[in-house]
Amino acid sequence: MGANQDRKSILTRIRGVMGDESVEGNIIETQVFCINDGAIIPTGSWRPEEYTHNDHANPRAFVFDPNMIWRFKEDNELVHFTAGTILWRKEYDQIRYCLMRRRRYPAGYYTIPAGHIELGETPHMSALRESFEESGLGVISIEQIAGGSTPYEGIELLDECRRGSIYHIWTLFSCECIGEPSLSEEGDVIGWYTQSEIINNLSLNRASGYFFGELFNETPKNVRDQ
Ligand SMILES: [Zn+2]
Ligand SMILES: [Zn+2]
Repeated sequence: MGANQDRKSILTRIRGVMGDESVEGNIIETQVFCINDGAIIPTGSWRPEEYTHNDHANPRAFVFDPNMIWRFKEDNELVHFTAGTILWRKEYDQIRYCLMRRRRYPAGYYTIPAGHIELGETPHMSALRESFEESGLGVISIEQIAGGSTPYEGIELLDECRRGSIYHIWTLFSCECIGEPSLSEEGDVIGWYTQSEIINNLSLNRASGYFFGELFNETPKNVRDQ
């Protein structure tokens, strides 16, 4: 096997192994495939930050978690389903937004709390779970601003994740919060930022850049390419 096979041919082979979409109970253990060549990576040698296979190391792999929702597109690209939250609070007359700087791929980019929707979850449940896991904040009101009542009705964005997908179907919520955020294992910085700081200063991952651009009606200056 060559070190860098065509992504589509690797995904075509993985689809043959995994099937067309996630089905509850079909896989019992996490399945990991090398992103360079599609080889099966023993889960014991895979770490969320990076794994090494033969002569190559990569922060990304194709990871199929038994709890995660995924499916293949007609062209064999892989799609994940994501719920995210814009967390905000009012300080006097100024609104600040909670963002976290990622410690894992794509490391160094600021993001809103977000994560893969799990089998059996509604986007609403998933958003509240992820926002609590990644910020610890208390939510005092929640409003849906993109997507529908199922994970499948969201907005498709090109947005790479460390589990190998480049396409994510997004559902988004806006939550007014109380408390101070606390760091999860996903991040190395977390805090409250103004609209101006988000537009001018922070390096944002692609989805956060897109959603803040929509919210502020102004495109943030530093957004990751993919
Ligand atoms: Zn490999
Ligand atoms: Zn993903």
